[in-house]
Amino acid sequence: MGEFNCDLHFHGPYSTGVSKNMLIPIIAEQSKLKGLHVCGMADMLQGTWFKHLKENIIEVSNGIFADKKELMNFIPQVEVQCNKRIHHLIFLPDFGSAETLKQSMDGSAIFDSWGCGRPVIRLSAEEIAEKVSNVGGIMGPAHAFTPYFSVYAHFDSVKEVYGAMGKEIKFMELGLSADTDFADMIPGNRDYQFITCSDSHSPWPYRIGREFTRIEMKEPGFKELKNALEKKDEKKIKLNVGLDPREGKYHLTACNACYANYSLEDAEKLNWRCTQCRGSIKRGVRDRIEMLSDGESKHPEFRPEYLYSVPLAEIIQIALKVEGINTKRVQGMWREFVDRFGTEINALIDAPIEELEKVDPTVAKKVNAFRKGWVHYLPGGGGNYGKPVICDSQEEFEKKVNEIDKQIREQQASNGQKTLREF
Ligand SMILES: [Zn+2]
Ligand SMILES: [Zn+2]
Repeated sequence: MGEFNCDLHFHGPYSTGVSKNMLIPIIAEQSKLKGLHVCGMADMLQGTWFKHLKENIIEVSNGIFADKKELMNFIPQVEVQCNKRIHHLIFLPDFGSAETLKQSMDGSAIFDSWGCGRPVIRLSAEEIAEKVSNVGGIMGPAHAFTPYFSVYAHFDSVKEVYGAMGKEIKFMELGLSADTDFADMIPGNRDYQFITCSDSHSPWPYRIGREFTRIEMKEPGFKELKNALEKKDEKKIKLNVGLDPREGKYHLTACNACYANYSLEDAEKLNWRCTQCRGSIKRGVRDRIEMLSDGESKHPEFRPEYLYSVPLAEIIQIALKVEGINTKRVQGMWREFVDRFGTEINALIDAPIEELEKVDPTVAKKVNAFRKGWVHYLPGGGGNYGKPVICDSQEEFEKKVNEIDKQIREQQASNGQKTLREF
């Protein structure tokens, strides 16, 4: 029995926009440095990737999989798109069940071409859920709130998406733009377990594990994962860790092209046309959730704490005032911290600040501020990530909160106004 940090959703290099470094030996090594214990196998239904998985992953004991160096455990996983353009996350018992599932959907999708890591399946979510269930797998909505390819982009509840299979759906993935407080504002969501995953497209630890779920399991495999997700009263989901939703790309309602912010009312009045550049305005997750909320965020008894995280490399970048996160200086310093404290998660959350100071006092100060919660955000929207602003005191933090919130309200009002006059 143990508690495992699990990042159960990412993509292989045969999905579009994914780093070619996204290979099992690199994922295993990097996610271990991050402090993860279990990863998803990603894109299980894509032929070339499946072959890579078979060559690089071994079954260490019954139903438990690891890379050849046994640095990391892996659970069979794939994301698919159904005929309603919704993304679903699927977990499977083993390689054989992935092959059987793929055969059962033969003719409904292109699986093996490049770019088909996340296959587009010409079946309903209900039909796919049935096939997944037939091979002993489990399924739930991926990034349930994003304005593209999600349940709440197209429907008002999770249940209605899956038809007769609705009762078998036990979990949903929150996605980068939502947290537990947001998700539990919608009454129907309070029945589901929430998982937080990185959906990463590169193996570097400021992406991989930027969101993860801490799960209590006897052993790090599919069987125990299924048990943890299905029996919510046993409270096996111990902790959700993720970005602050304001850091998500679709937090606020904003223009897709120039990122100008809008209030929901103005966006509707303007027919979703940006007054600044005539681009189209995308409804933000915050506004979408408020539309469906019963007015408050009520957590069910089994819901664990949600811990906000900022990747250590991003904190170092801010502390050292360096432009890029991939620079030698940031990466070198990151490596120093990880070498000293074993994993990024350890350095970020558990190690004493005095010890961090010995590596670098400026970075230690920012990690301390992060632990104290003095982090505010320039919120994301329209496809643009938000940015953390790490303050040095409670006082400065409160000042920043007021300043940034006021700024956003003014921007929304001015962008909305302009449109009204010009159109
Ligand atoms: Zn997706
Ligand atoms: Zn615009």
